[in-house]
Amino acid sequence: MSTARPLGVYVHVPFCRIHCPYCDFYTYPSGRGRDADFVSALLCEIELSRHRLDVAGHEVNTIYFGGGTPSLLSDAQIGDVLTAARRMFSQSGSAEITLEMNPEDVTSDRLDDLTARGVNRISLGVQSLRQSVLNDLGRIHTVAQARTSLETISGYRNWNADLMFGWAGQTVADFERELDELLAYEPSHVSLYELTIEPRTRFGVLAAQGRLEAVDADRQAELYLAAVEILEANGLRQYEVSNFAREGHRSRHNLACWRRQPYIGLGPSACSQLWSRRTENTRSLITYLNRLAGRDIPVTFVEVLTPAMEHVERIWLGLRTCDGGSRDLFGKRSQNVLDELVDENLAINRPDHSYVLNANGMAMADDIVGRILLTETKTKPIPRHLSY
Ligand code: SF4
Repeated sequence: MSTARPLGVYVHVPFCRIHCPYCDFYTYPSGRGRDADFVSALLCEIELSRHRLDVAGHEVNTIYFGGGTPSLLSDAQIGDVLTAARRMFSQSGSAEITLEMNPEDVTSDRLDDLTARGVNRISLGVQSLRQSVLNDLGRIHTVAQARTSLETISGYRNWNADLMFGWAGQTVADFERELDELLAYEPSHVSLYELTIEPRTRFGVLAAQGRLEAVDADRQAELYLAAVEILEANGLRQYEVSNFAREGHRSRHNLACWRRQPYIGLGPSACSQLWSRRTENTRSLITYLNRLAGRDIPVTFVEVLTPAMEHVERIWLGLRTCDGGSRDLFGKRSQNVLDELVDENLAINRPDHSYVLNANGMAMADDIVGRILLTETKTKPIPRHLSY
């Protein structure tokens, strides 16, 4: 048995055909033909990372291509990145290798080719099975394409479907019908994303101008709880606020990030977390290309986590997952708050004396985690997003 410590690799592919009006990720228009330059820069970053980072004794056990739209890269380009990663890092023979795909990019030939190159998990951006909703969300794929991709992928053994919810006017009955339709394709994993209006997005601007109907928080909670019930009843167990999986199909990459295992982020805007050091790459593709053309690492932000910061992270990441947190992780006052949450049927105190949020608590996870962190630290730290 290998004694190497696990290491995750996240690859941010920044290209998108259009920029969706609700999205605040860094993206770059795919039509400008910079993909070959990007892959060359990525291969260089992999090589520099091998020399820059002290990863001896570690073995890559997950690789996650996120974005952006990673399926805009060709299969050969994805294969080149995987080959370089295998050459530069020690890699487990059973590594989980995930590729995010948009429905318009899925064909059975591509799935076969990607599998032959080492990809063994697909995350499909379905988002909705209602054409009017896809239109409102500014997505360019159609429901017909979503259904075709679902039919194509349904025989694949390890795949996730992303589904969004929570727009003004969405009813529980309609969401349940959508979930039923999705479940007929038997996904091994489902990620639910509540529509949030971020200020820096087109939706954020429209909302500020009063031109986008506000979403009712109670309705969002109602939709969420209905979805949890349906997914659980169909064998997809909740293991994080937004994530549900059949037995043996949890995302190993995301779980490792939530458990604060080290990972390396590659590509524009990607974050790395190695031991107590967190770094972030430049968000600009052009700066990224220029820096790597000079064999300069593209990191523009470095943060050394103090023990207090790590403690806060352990709490908020734990409470968002089925891991929860052991009682001794929390101060006395937080333990009292958690006991109140148990009384209010929002959390469970397990026999091993750990606390975990139940579905009702998960529906209010942001508020609850904020309350606990306020109790722990007297200030309300804003958790930074990890690379997943
Ligand atoms: S939501 Fe996905 S496809 Fe749309 S702009 Fe963001 S990353 Fe690209």
